[in-house]
Amino acid sequence: MAPDHVDVLIVGAGLSGIGAACHLRRDCPDKTYTVLEARDAIGGTWDLFRYPGIRSDSDMFTLGYSFRPWTAPKAIADGTTIREYVRETAQEYDVPRHIRFRHRVLRAEWDSATARWTVHAQRTDTAESVVLTCSFLFACAGYYRYDKGYTPPLPGVDAYAGRLVHPQHWPDDLDHTGKRVVVIGSGATAVTLVPALAGRAAHVTMLQRSPSYIMAMPARDRLADALRRRLPATAAYPVVRWKNVLLSTVNFQLSRRAPGLARRVLRRAARARLPVGYDVDRHFSPRYDPWDQRLCVAPDGDLFTAVRDGTASVVTDTIDTFTTHGVRLTSGAEVPADIVVTATGLNLLALGGLTLRVDGADVDLPNTVAYKGMMLSGVPNFALTVGYTNASWTLKADLVAGYVCRLLRHLDRTGQQVVTPLPPPDSGRVPLIDLRSGYVLRAVDTLPKQGVTAPWRLHQNYARDVLLMRHGRLTDEGVRFSRAGEVTAPDRTPRPVASERR
Ligand SMILES: Cc1cc2nc3c(=O)[nH]c(=O)nc-3n(C[C@H](O)[C@H](O)[C@H](O)COP(=O)(O)OP(=O)(O)OC[C@H]3O[C@@H](n4cnc5c(N)ncnc54)[C@H](O)[C@@H]3O)c2cc1C
Repeated sequence: MAPDHVDVLIVGAGLSGIGAACHLRRDCPDKTYTVLEARDAIGGTWDLFRYPGIRSDSDMFTLGYSFRPWTAPKAIADGTTIREYVRETAQEYDVPRHIRFRHRVLRAEWDSATARWTVHAQRTDTAESVVLTCSFLFACAGYYRYDKGYTPPLPGVDAYAGRLVHPQHWPDDLDHTGKRVVVIGSGATAVTLVPALAGRAAHVTMLQRSPSYIMAMPARDRLADALRRRLPATAAYPVVRWKNVLLSTVNFQLSRRAPGLARRVLRRAARARLPVGYDVDRHFSPRYDPWDQRLCVAPDGDLFTAVRDGTASVVTDTIDTFTTHGVRLTSGAEVPADIVVTATGLNLLALGGLTLRVDGADVDLPNTVAYKGMMLSGVPNFALTVGYTNASWTLKADLVAGYVCRLLRHLDRTGQQVVTPLPPPDSGRVPLIDLRSGYVLRAVDTLPKQGVTAPWRLHQNYARDVLLMRHGRLTDEGVRFSRAGEVTAPDRTPRPVASERR
């Protein structure tokens, strides 16, 4: 029996996969599609993470979809509200009936003769193999491993008699009331967890090897509150969204162009929220420049408040060894702990672990170059969603999904079936993700590259990408359109360039 065939196969039912399905419904209603999701729920990240206080660290006016206003009161929202928003969006666009849950996609093989992908998945409940075919494969599988968070080697951990927990696998039965908690880490998760635990715990210690930039931000958006009282959500939402896009762009550009000034501003803001005489330089002044790593956000300055009122403290030191009752630090100090939380990060994983073959040859991801940050050189009819590193993920995810719809319509209009990105003519290659965070550096060699010139260069600039991806040309030197059976190996031979624009 021939496998089921769809026009578009989406991998993943997180924020990006659901957004992609909605875009298809809006822009290409005649296309058939299926979403294969490894888990048994919609929401991805926002369903997986269940640690106390789980929340966004960007504002929901930009982390929300362009086509569906964020109407909840808080701009920095909790995980449950975000999960519900994604689910409700899926319902509104009739996506759930297209999702096959508990289907992990393992590999996909492209055949140029038929212009089809054959996609191999495995049911996570029965281990049954499932094969589908599709004309376009759209990977919305996030960027990290779901089964295992990252934990660095922890010296002497076997001696520790308390509970050791990773935020990615938070146990339902863990009660921290009255307990001494040590949170190891200084990233967004630690910054979220510490104030969330501090209320009920006896004390929470954030144990960091080195500090991160932490910026207090109002949990509610004053402009949004004002506009919502006067305007319908559909009118207020884009105004607040663009205001926040512009603010974050200015923040990022200033940090890049005047890092010394940005450092001073962030340091002064932190100092103003901490007790007099607090060692701000030791605990809140990172060695790197702002935006070399993502900035952490403290809604209404909650972390600083917890430090100020003494329910939490920050220790900047390294672990010498775990002991039976806590951790001993290199300085010789001991920090007692009933619970240790390893907020030490994620394991990056490209394409949700799915491997690709094109006409019988394996695709070696680190040897591919991303085209417009969303397709891979030499891989036909394939797109992937990777969000911004300096702004909300969904801003880019929306643009990518919209661009895929433009491509599909262009193919139909021109009677072609295949779009294949080409590698850049020059040899310049740089990492696809330009952050210096540990989780990025650990995996950078396994990821595709980006080029040094357009259209292979990522600018991490939403306003610029709106012009490029919503209104820019579909045909350029980075991509080849063709009919089924025409394309063999991708090359850079001259080709006719259609002049059509959409
Ligand atoms: C704790 C946390 C907080 C974050 N906060 C923010 C924030 O405030 N702002 C921001 O911009 N970004 C944030 N991020 C980044 C965040 O992951 C994105 O915002 C967004 O949720 C990514 O959505 P996604 O759908 O692309 O990926 P995911 O949410 O990771 O969803 C991917 C989905 O694909 C499925 N999948 C993966 N591989 C396969 C496979 N092989 N077969 C089938 N299904 C598969 C997964 O099961 C999952 O459901 C945060 C990340 C984390 C971990």
